[in-house]
This record gives sequence, C-alpha cells and structure tokens, in this order.
Amino acid sequence: ANDQLAQWDRENFFHPSTHLAQFDRGEAPQRIITGGEGSHIIDRDGNRLLDGFAGLYCVNAGYGRKEITEAIAKQADELAYFHSYAGHGTEASITLSKMVMDRAPEGMARVYFGLGGSDANETNIKLVWYYNNIRGLPEKKKIISRWRGYHGSGLMSGSLTGLELFHKKFDLPLSNIVHTEAPFYYRRPEADMSEADFTAYLIRELEALIEREGPETIAAFIGEPVLGTGGIVPPPEGYWEGVQEVLARHDILMIADEVITGFGRLGSMFGSDHYGIKPDLITIAKGLTSAYAPLSGSIVGQRMWDVLCQGTDEHGVFGHGWTYSAHPIGAAAGVANLKLIDELGLVENATTVGAHLRRAMTEAVGDHVNVGEVRGEGMLCAVELTSDRATRASFDPMGSVAPKVVAAMLKRGVIARAMPQADMLGFAPPLCLTTEEADHIAAVTAESLKEVLG
Ligand code: PLP
Repeated sequence: ANDQLAQWDRENFFHPSTHLAQFDRGEAPQRIITGGEGSHIIDRDGNRLLDGFAGLYCVNAGYGRKEITEAIAKQADELAYFHSYAGHGTEASITLSKMVMDRAPEGMARVYFGLGGSDANETNIKLVWYYNNIRGLPEKKKIISRWRGYHGSGLMSGSLTGLELFHKKFDLPLSNIVHTEAPFYYRRPEADMSEADFTAYLIRELEALIEREGPETIAAFIGEPVLGTGGIVPPPEGYWEGVQEVLARHDILMIADEVITGFGRLGSMFGSDHYGIKPDLITIAKGLTSAYAPLSGSIVGQRMWDVLCQGTDEHGVFGHGWTYSAHPIGAAAGVANLKLIDELGLVENATTVGAHLRRAMTEAVGDHVNVGEVRGEGMLCAVELTSDRATRASFDPMGSVAPKVVAAMLKRGVIARAMPQADMLGFAPPLCLTTEEADHIAAVTAESLKEVLG
C-alpha cells in the first residue's frame, strides 16, 4: 500500500531476513499485522490469515490469549524490571524457574534465563568452556554441530548453525566449530540405503570426525531433537541412541537445542524425553512464553552444575550475564503460558492434530509428481518438493519453487514457510490448531501446488 506507514517502513526499518534491495525499491511484500486470535493473525486491511507457522514456530498457545496478556499487564504495572544479578529475583522469575524445572527431563539441575534462542546458545558454549576450564581441560574446546542445524544468528550461534546462508560473507564459522552430517534420510548418500544403515553410517561419520579432530579437543555436541529450519527432519531410527553412545565414550557433553521442540511441539513436553536424549544442557526459548515476550533459557544438568559450583571458589563469579536475564515481563508471560499449555492440553493436541495434519497433507498432496515426501513429528510437517521423484532431485537446492507455492497459499489466506536452503514447504502451526484448520491447510496446499506446478 502506498501510504505513510508503508513509506516509513521502507525508509526506516531494517528488516531481518529480508531481501534488502528489493525492499528498498518497494518490490518486496509489506504486510502490517494488527491482531491475532487462536491460529489466525489479522492484517490492517482486515484479512484473517491462518498461521501455519505460529509466527516463527513460537506462538504455541495461539494468538490473543488473555490469560497471558493480563499476566504481562499486571507484572508491568507492579514491577516492569529488576535484574537477577547477585541473587536478586522476582516472584515471576522464581516461579517460572520452578515450573521449568518441574517439566524438564530427569537429571537437570538449574535454569539460566536469557532473551532469545541465539543468546541462550552463546551461554551454553560459555558454560561448556567454563566447565572444562574448571576441570583442568582447557584444550577440550571444539563443538560439533550438524549441517542443516539451526542454532541462531550470533557469532557463536551462527557458527553452530549449519546453513551456508548464515556463514558466507560473515567469515563464519568461528574456529573450534566443526560440522557433521545431517540425519536427513531423504538425502541419504545412496538410494538403496535402509534407515538402519543410514543411522549406522551417520554414527560412523561422527566417530571418524571425533577421531580426526582428537577426542581430547572436543567439548560438546549440539543438535535439535528434530532438525528445524534446516528442513523439519525427524531423526532416523536409533540415531540419538547411537550419537549418545559415541559422545559418552569420548567424554563429550550433549546440548539439546529445544528452542522449537521444548514445551510441547513434538507432543512431549521436551524433545529429549520424546527421543530418550539425556542432555547436559538444554536450550529453550520460543514456546517458553509462546513469544508473548522475549525469554530464553539454558537448562543445566546436574553433572555440569556440580562442577560449576566447585569452580566458583577458585574462579570467582560466573562472569556472564545479560541486563535482561530473567526479565520479569518475560517471566510473567512464561508462567501464564505454561499454565495455559497444561490447562488446554496443548501437548496432547500437538500429538493428535499434528498426526491429523500429516495424514490430511499426505492425502492432499502425497501423490503429486513433485512431492518427494510428507514428513514431520508432533505439530511439525514438511512437504519436500522434487523435480524427479525417482532421483529425489531438488528443483533448486536454494529453493525457488517453494516460495512461489507459499505466495500462492498466502493469496488463499494460509501462511506456510519456504524453508531456507531447500525446496520444501514447512508447517509449524500453533499447538491449539483444530482438525478443521489442519484440513484447510492441506486443501490450500494442494490447490496452490496445482496452481504453481500443475
Ligand atoms: N535454536 C533453534 C533450534 C531455533 O529454531 C532458533 C530460532 O529459530 C534459535 C536457536 C535462535 O533463536 P532466536 O531466534 O530466538 O535467537
């Protein structure tokens, strides 16, 4: 729209993850969002859009939840801010720490709060290095991450991310970060490899990397229980068991990045519980507050906590803190959100409606000649596009068809995501999605695929 707000936007606002030149020239889409309700957002022209991606996989409880907004307003009114340094806390931040730890997988000890997933991963790597310094192993520093992993956009978190888009032109990754293969069965190296053989291959590759680098130099492994931004890819059978066995043998810590999977998205409170992962650190954000306010966390396991505590006599204070660590407004949002997730049974809904969505999607588009597979777990679904089902070839490894399908879906009032560095459609709706809304997403996907690809 050629009005003042749109003009101010183009002239002043540096949007993230946006084609800057196109935006500057006024060629890129602009949409001004004014409201939301349940699984829908509403733009200023009054259009209601079914949000098949929950913002950025984060508005898990859905839009317009008065229980959360009223808790935020009450907290802002009583005490909008105080820091959490040197033992200070607020009722909200302390209550939230208890609620997070009550829900956390077994063996976890404490939660350190941050702002977003990226900074929580920065915190995790500093915790790992601090831990090994206290143990007298300062050379044990390298972090293994996966190609196609997404762990954030900071210097360290962007280095952990295994997508070229986040590395090139930034001189990343930083030293001490090494990447291993993505557990992406559809992209297995040989067509006739079984899922079990693929898992065995991935574990051999991981072990070979550790041997090459030297186990005494490797501190930790980081992975999302289900690869998210790299393609919504559930792991092949036996993968996490195999990875953990190798890590344990080489005294390598396990970091589960549960920014997407934490608080119900897979139909379990945590992805670690879903797959039997026993992490030393867990990254949380997004679903912690359903994005009603920024808040993240690093949940620290008991074996690290015990060493960190020993270290503080000799090394002093843990020298790491953000001004907004455990911000009271984020904490109040978190408390109200976690209560609501329980009250509405959203974790269970993620299992049942998520399975319904994948079934409906498979029925609607599974036989299309350009659909390689429909996959997912819990309330996550991906439609892999291919120019040739036999060879599983991508139309474009950087993605050119999926954005057209996403645009065609948007015209029909449904938001999907064209995943970066892939040609696939991603779905991560709010956990309150209904079966009727799931059916609608599938139907619109089918119509839009037909419009773009025939
Ligand atoms: N880790 C994972 C698994 C994510 O999906 C994301 C964001 O999408 C992040 C970390 C980074 O979180 P943030 O964007 O809040 O910094």
